Amino acid sequence: MRVLVVEDEPDLAKALTEGIRRDGYAVDTALTGEEALDKLSAVPYDIVCLDLNLPDIDGREVCRRINAETSRLDDSDTPRVLILTARDSLADRVAGLDDGADDYLVKPFDLAELLARIRALSRRRSVHSGALVEVGALKLDPRRMEVMADGEMIDLTAREFALLRYFMLYPGEVLASERLLDHVWDENIDPFTNTVRVTISKLRKKLAGVGQPEMIETVVGSGYRLVA
Ligand code: CA
Repeated sequence: MRVLVVEDEPDLAKALTEGIRRDGYAVDTALTGEEALDKLSAVPYDIVCLDLNLPDIDGREVCRRINAETSRLDDSDTPRVLILTARDSLADRVAGLDDGADDYLVKPFDLAELLARIRALSRRRSVHSGALVEVGALKLDPRRMEVMADGEMIDLTAREFALLRYFMLYPGEVLASERLLDHVWDENIDPFTNTVRVTISKLRKKLAGVGQPEMIETVVGSGYRLVA
């Protein structure tokens, strides 16, 4: 899952970015509305945390443009928008939701609450409605950032967890390396590395260690697939 934080206060932007990243998401930051629209045009974000009060383009306008530009896409390809704002009047909330926002959080808020809302939006994006995601012997708990295989905990790094979670949201689907890069890694990645291949290889070893050696299949020329 890849998140874009749009927030013009640099300290807050940094704190949010780091906090969300620690929860196992790939996170990019935009300090202006213009920068946000640039990044949104280049990257298929899953979730956008959007401050309304930006120095250049109003956050509501950014929200309207996200919806205008993605309305032709499948629902599953449209970024979920979580508005972050100090404007707490009822009229502002209603207006934000009318502009196509999915949720609303009034500043100041706890990071824990923001993370809970992001998890809820990630679940809504997927076909799974419950908190736990299950594929075959694997059971993923997004709140605890844990994956169990037949009850045995798999010791994963944050990136391996993010990658496995993404596979588990699209079981049986062939996922190209580019798509994995877009949704699991953020903009700090060196595009010339073979990080996807390396991370998949480590993940396979860990899955093999809990008796699940062949869950991630290579589909030659196309990408990778999680088989149940
Ligand atoms: Ca602001």
